[in-house]
Amino acid sequence: MEEVPVRVLFFKSKSCAFCAPVERMVRKAISRLFGDELITVNVFDVDEHNELVDEYKITSLPYVIVGEVPVISGMASEKEIEDALMRGILHSASSRAERIEVGAKQVFIEANLNFVESINSKERIRRNIGDYVHISNLQLATISLLSLDTTAGNLLYSIGKLAGKTGAFTGLLYDIEPSLGDPYASVEKNFRSFLIAIDRFHVKQNELGVFDARNAEVVEEDKGYGRIRIYESATATGVPVIGEPICYFTAGMISGLAEAILGETVYVAERNCWGLGASYCEFEISLSEGALEGKKTTPHLTKKGVEAREESFGRLIRTLTRNMTQSVLEGRRIRVGISDYTHIMNLQQQITSIKLADPVAGFFLRLAGKRLGRIIAPKEHLSVNEAIFELKNYMNSPLSLMSGIHSNCNIKKGDGESFIVTVESCAFASGQENIGVSLCEFEAGVIEGFMEKSTGKSYSSKEVECWGLGQQHCAFQVEREKFS
Ligand SMILES: [Zn+2]
Ligand SMILES: [Zn+2]
Repeated sequence: MEEVPVRVLFFKSKSCAFCAPVERMVRKAISRLFGDELITVNVFDVDEHNELVDEYKITSLPYVIVGEVPVISGMASEKEIEDALMRGILHSASSRAERIEVGAKQVFIEANLNFVESINSKERIRRNIGDYVHISNLQLATISLLSLDTTAGNLLYSIGKLAGKTGAFTGLLYDIEPSLGDPYASVEKNFRSFLIAIDRFHVKQNELGVFDARNAEVVEEDKGYGRIRIYESATATGVPVIGEPICYFTAGMISGLAEAILGETVYVAERNCWGLGASYCEFEISLSEGALEGKKTTPHLTKKGVEAREESFGRLIRTLTRNMTQSVLEGRRIRVGISDYTHIMNLQQQITSIKLADPVAGFFLRLAGKRLGRIIAPKEHLSVNEAIFELKNYMNSPLSLMSGIHSNCNIKKGDGESFIVTVESCAFASGQENIGVSLCEFEAGVIEGFMEKSTGKSYSSKEVECWGLGQQHCAFQVEREKFS
């Protein structure tokens, strides 16, 4: 899993005297020992993220976690820091690769099986509202994730690659292009057949009812190198220019499909995208890494870039929400060639599966939802009851319901300031098997962020019932944070 970055979580507070020097030593050690490419340091101020103290059982500051394992707690010497990071990062890198394989695979397989079944039997997974979700929902989740952290793109790429390798779509490609994978053909010839198959892939998918993109077109092909354009993709169509590409999942997916079929490592990078100002997405595909060298999948952002991205995030989310409103309620289409709705399988493959990639990724998914929740909450300075009323209003608004994100939402008050949010037919989880894991980390985050913005206080939202836990609905237990 060469693309999966390792995450280092660094917890500090303003009053902590050792935090700044230890943070400097951690950053220095990482760039000295591993280089900055594959390792990301995320710094959290526990004064701003009270919920993390409980979540990570933080006893003293600074507190450093690699993957899931705490490696530094309190003051430490430079040598101790280096040793701790070395052990933690090596451990994390090996266990992550395994988890991605078993965890995310379950979601892909189930999403695919459900899809195939619902196509064959013409029976819906969600009987009351149907199996389609508006593309803006997929875009809101993807953009929220990408805005958090520059390595989110790598994670989406890895997930996409695994979906390509393990999903049902390789079979579809063989149907489209029977000469694919001919054992007597050269790799280059098979590569050409692969591009031809990808060219027709979306049209074929849409005949089945996926609606991931309108169509694709091979614009260049030369000895193991090719360029493909994808038109009206669900992930990117209508997204404002943000100065970077968005479709990491799709790039990973193409690479995974190609590797499954050709048995060779295949490199894919998105060169043009709605996020870069184009009105299509263009991918470079190559059998040799060198052909794509110097043009990395993830943009390397300076600190200023990250801050600028933070600032524009709110504006971006409002644009996406406006696009959704116009499309859902006013009939103004975002995609002209195909529907603005895509099969829930698509959302589950691209977003839900991230939770299972590893627990840290699940946490980031929740953080992404939380940021979205803060922006969509319409009012501030509300009492708890007023905030719950607004939350219920939002969750049951015509926009939410008609966008296919879920059907009914109910809220029941519990003891003190706690309450339970129940959601029917959730697009992120519907149809998934009981795998003993709750799946709707993003939704949980949206509720937290919404309550926080509305009341000015911190809330934690834990999913206690879900398709992934064996129920046929989702329920979130929401509580006021103890420390806030
Ligand atoms: Zn794109
Ligand atoms: Zn759920």
